Amino acid sequence: MQNMHTEIKKIDADEFDPEELLQAANILKSGGLVAFPTETVYGLGANALEELAAGKIYEAKGRPSDNPLIVHIANKMDINQLAKDIPETAYKLAEVFWPGPLTIILKKKECVPYGTTGGLDTVAIRLPANKIARELIELSGIFVAAPSANRSGKPSPTKAEHVIEDLSGKVDMIIDGGKATLGLESTIIDLTGEKPMILRPGCITQQMLSNVIGEVEIDPTILAPKMDHDFKPKAPGMKYRHYAPEGSLTIYEGDTNTVINEINKVTKEKVDNGHVVGIIATEETKSSYPSGVVKVIGSRKDEATIAAGLFDILREFDTLHAEYIYSESFGDNRLGQAIMNRLLKAAGYHINKLS
Ligand code: AMP
Ligand code: MG
Repeated sequence: MQNMHTEIKKIDADEFDPEELLQAANILKSGGLVAFPTETVYGLGANALEELAAGKIYEAKGRPSDNPLIVHIANKMDINQLAKDIPETAYKLAEVFWPGPLTIILKKKECVPYGTTGGLDTVAIRLPANKIARELIELSGIFVAAPSANRSGKPSPTKAEHVIEDLSGKVDMIIDGGKATLGLESTIIDLTGEKPMILRPGCITQQMLSNVIGEVEIDPTILAPKMDHDFKPKAPGMKYRHYAPEGSLTIYEGDTNTVINEINKVTKEKVDNGHVVGIIATEETKSSYPSGVVKVIGSRKDEATIAAGLFDILREFDTLHAEYIYSESFGDNRLGQAIMNRLLKAAGYHINKLS
């Protein structure tokens, strides 16, 4: 792809004049690409109903064309324009969780091109909470297809610097609106099957969803070990290599002291042989690792800090050219499930269970 000029526009998320977003809205309206902050991660936006515009997203990201895009809207009732046969549960979830980090999958209307849905008859829809994102969608007057604004395979971007690193020269504009507060992509729930099913865990948990609509299933592959070749997950994105840091990442699971001892042992071996080793530690354990480059992902007392730190720490270890990265593990309920889902993918499902 040709190198184009990318305008970087700084906008204060807490206090901005909608006029500051006019140029970005015009770019989207005329078929261009704009990266913008959302509360989950940064998104790379284009007109969702124009196949040509949406196609540019795939090119800029190097994204496989069967990996569908999430369509972002500014008003709840816009789902009626994009989807058909909408179950009552969709309206209930929208009422409680929108704007917010929940993506709902519904049967698509004809106006949504297959170029946006990766060839599927369903469409993924989200109403983001971030003010810049919503104002931008509103001002552009279109529906905005926006996957995470990273090069395909790399950790999702939680800061504008990450987007600049990956997409500078490939998109028309990058809006720098500060840190994405949640730091993990939206929960995806599919309402087109017999029972509602979570296809990707996120900050809105299974329990929170079932409190509103009753029984919700969870795709068993979410925390599954390595998938074989003809494995077909329901969210096509799940089959691709994801979030991978350049170094080899291994997760250690077990009681805290055993994990710390094992990580220290393997780290010493590698460091003694001249390798650069990164350790993903927590506030609670950071002083337990005498060698390696120790980085704190967050505090176990507040899982949200771990979610918010995950993608950033993976990119930091790339900057340091860490060849080996060792990480503690993070339970598998509530937010822990979303954290482990991303960490396991980043590690290529390489986990050492210590007894
Ligand atoms: P991203 O925004 O980069 O996190 O990617 C969007 C995610 O949503 C990918 O994992 C897709 O596979 C998933 N997705 C989007 N549309 C659909 C759909 N119609 N059915 C199932 N999964 C979808
Ligand atoms: Mg993504």
